[in-house]
Amino acid sequence: MDIESRGKLFIVGTGPGALAHITPAALDAINVSNIVVGFTTYVELIRKLLTGKEVITTSMTEEKKRVAIAIEKGIDGNVVSLVCGGDPGIYALAGLVLEMLSQYEGKGLEQLDVEVIAGVPALNSSASRLGAPLMHDFAAISLSDRLTPWELIEKRLSHAAEADFVICIYNPKSKGRKDHLARAINILMQYRAPKTPVGVVKGATRENESVVLTTLGSVPLDEVDMHTTLIVGNSNTYVYKGWMITPRGYRI
Ligand code: SAH
Repeated sequence: MDIESRGKLFIVGTGPGALAHITPAALDAINVSNIVVGFTTYVELIRKLLTGKEVITTSMTEEKKRVAIAIEKGIDGNVVSLVCGGDPGIYALAGLVLEMLSQYEGKGLEQLDVEVIAGVPALNSSASRLGAPLMHDFAAISLSDRLTPWELIEKRLSHAAEADFVICIYNPKSKGRKDHLARAINILMQYRAPKTPVGVVKGATRENESVVLTTLGSVPLDEVDMHTTLIVGNSNTYVYKGWMITPRGYRI
């Protein structure tokens, strides 16, 4: 193979949903790609950008297959964008791609360039809808126990709560995990008052966006779905005129 036939794999974050929130760098990567690979939902959100491109979609649980296709198409000399919602390095595929690359040593890996393109993650898009809840130290915790033991998730919830981090809860619900959010909230309530502000943001920037400001003691569990992020305030977080605010510490 000569240098002309080198392949390129962009691992692209497409942001929270609306095209207005995708970065110019992500747009450029998708533009120059002849193949776009992604989970069906995220591909549909950027469908307008994909005219004339080969589009390969896989279902949500087929991450390894999706990544293998993207790497192999890149090794074949294509320019490939593997698209992920939000940021590709936050509960997404950038890590899996980099972990799987070693399997392609001696099988064309030398011909492939890889680049990670950041996107606006759900914790940022959700925070912006709520006001300024992430002004002080925070932790992100995913309630998905598909790849992480539930005991470890519980441990992280209690330690983050005890340390008074603002807590962003990702993957709060799926078909197989209906009661995880209730269990998580019970753990947080051991350390934080029921009146602690909680922002519940569903589908940030998308057509069906919903933003609810509530408290830890009254989170509307039935309204939370797999496109929702919750932001639980720390002990200083408060609400003023509909804004969720975590003080940085300025004297005002
Ligand atoms: N890489 C993504 C996260 C993927 S995990 C990122 O950086 O944001 C999927 C979880 O992200 C969902 O269960 C939900 O908790 C959150 N999420 C993704 N898009 C969202 C959106 N538009 N609004 C609110 N939460 C979202």
